[in-house]
Amino acid sequence: MDATLSRDLSLAAFADQVAGCTKCALAAGRTQVVFGSGNPDADLMFVGEAPGFHEDKQGIPFVGAAGKLLDQLLAGIGLNREQVFVANVLKCRPPGNRDPMPEEIEACEAHLWRQIELIQPRVVATLGNFATKLLSGRPTGITRVHGQEQETTLGGRRVLLYPLYHPAAALYTPRMLEVLQSDFARVPELLGREVAPPEPVFVAPAVAEPAIQLGLF
Ligand code: URA
Repeated sequence: MDATLSRDLSLAAFADQVAGCTKCALAAGRTQVVFGSGNPDADLMFVGEAPGFHEDKQGIPFVGAAGKLLDQLLAGIGLNREQVFVANVLKCRPPGNRDPMPEEIEACEAHLWRQIELIQPRVVATLGNFATKLLSGRPTGITRVHGQEQETTLGGRRVLLYPLYHPAAALYTPRMLEVLQSDFARVPELLGREVAPPEPVFVAPAVAEPAIQLGLF
């Protein structure tokens, strides 16, 4: 079987598995798990925060107003949703669209790591604070790091992490929208960039018993 087909099947099998997830309390209130959608072989992956009302009903991320803006931004760089993969930190809708809670992120993050491992994107664009903090492993907020790509290892591979403002925030703040548009315009350049292979992991040799203790002398 060719590698692309096997990756698509693995992602589909993983989606089936996650559909029954009950690792946190959000499972009780959801209509369905919103796994993510798009191209399983995408070079560019987006990670948002959590499904909202419409996403929970339709089972697809970013189908509301923020999603329309994401579609426009993608079109602006000559891409569409079938060419990228879009997922969220949380796969289930928090009640009333409240912020994700630390225990929900903790319960859900393994799903995202596995998605990244299977999709093997070259660039992971985080949308907003929650995705940026989780994937960068740092507490620095989006206002300070947006538009600043950084090489990191995600899902066992070197990728460019690219923090962006969340489209929902930019919808109502014209200045933020301008910044998001100009950050977005750099995505094609980042997709063309070579990312260095991972640093070799140094494995310390096992300490040999001194020959004298083994009674060899
Ligand atoms: N906002 C998100 O972060 N994700 C969605 O899927 C929709 C809105």
